[in-house]
Amino acid sequence: MIPASLHSAQPADWRAAWRDAVTDPAELLRLLDLPQLAARLAAAGGFPLRVPRGFVARMRRGDAADPLLRQVLPLDDEDRIVPGFGLDAVGDLAARGARGVLHKYHGRALLVATGACAIHCRYCFRRHFPYGEEAAAANGWQSALDYMRGDPSIDEVLLSGGDPLSLSTPKLADLTDALRTVPHLRRLRIHTRLPVVLPERIDAALLDWFGALPWPVVLVIHANHANELDDSVAAALAALARRGVRLYNQAVLLRGVNDDEDALVDLSTRLFELGVQPYYLHQLDRVAGTAHFEVDDVRALALVERVRARLPGYLVPQLVREVPGAASKTPI
Ligand SMILES: *Cc1c(COP(=O)(O)O)cnc(C)c1O
Ligand code: SF4
Repeated sequence: MIPASLHSAQPADWRAAWRDAVTDPAELLRLLDLPQLAARLAAAGGFPLRVPRGFVARMRRGDAADPLLRQVLPLDDEDRIVPGFGLDAVGDLAARGARGVLHKYHGRALLVATGACAIHCRYCFRRHFPYGEEAAAANGWQSALDYMRGDPSIDEVLLSGGDPLSLSTPKLADLTDALRTVPHLRRLRIHTRLPVVLPERIDAALLDWFGALPWPVVLVIHANHANELDDSVAAALAALARRGVRLYNQAVLLRGVNDDEDALVDLSTRLFELGVQPYYLHQLDRVAGTAHFEVDDVRALALVERVRARLPGYLVPQLVREVPGAASKTPI
């Protein structure tokens, strides 16, 4: 029998940490000692609060402007209807290749692996996406795989969502086993926020799965602020890098979160320490309920120019926007 003391030293199962997330705004405000924000909570909508406790622990108590809190707390700003902010800002519904496949760009097919996320980011462009109908897993990946097999120009598959690493490791293995039957596949890319918001997910079984994949693997994490990147995240990323996974970061430029020079410099600097290459800095997708996060292009460009004046070129992310119908992300 395993002595209790030894047992409790084992890392917690990531699903327990997932389930234990804070979902009640009143509890979050209590934990952070911010009762004054209770009057400003958003009307409960279809995209409720969800934030893992480990992420909450990186927020500053008593700071209503904390950049991590701002990313997750549903405030009444979201209830405002702002012209130009709609439901399908990035043209996803038009780019549907097959069930659960978005094919917008040459060579790259994006698989909506699942709709689930460990955290709900208020600015997310997918908050209105019909996951129930679209998740490719719903029919055993079959139509998605047929689509990819039928188009030899597709040499990279992106797993996205939702958060693809929210699938169990056996489910991921089923998916990648199926992808082995796509002969023209040369790279696998995974877009995930889990190494940052729930680093418990990067457990031994998942690392073994990564280590056994037959393709070069690119992992694009999603951190918007250096405060998200604590030691637990550093350890998870180091473990991934040891398996040969290439690490990139994409961030979204968000008013009140990272729209200042120092925040962007600190983010890139910290990412570098963690072995992660800054990739994109996205302009916000104009999705209903997110207008209060928008930074206009003139300011965004000026910010990136100031960052460029302070950092080596390889630590300056590319400022881009997603334009429906364009052949790539569009540099600003
Ligand atoms: C963003 C995106 C990609 C990846 O674009 P890169 O510029 O290669 O990072 C691929 N497919 C879809 C549908 C996307 O939205
Ligand atoms: S898809 Fe990414 S950005 Fe959107 S809610 Fe999920 S984790 Fe956040």
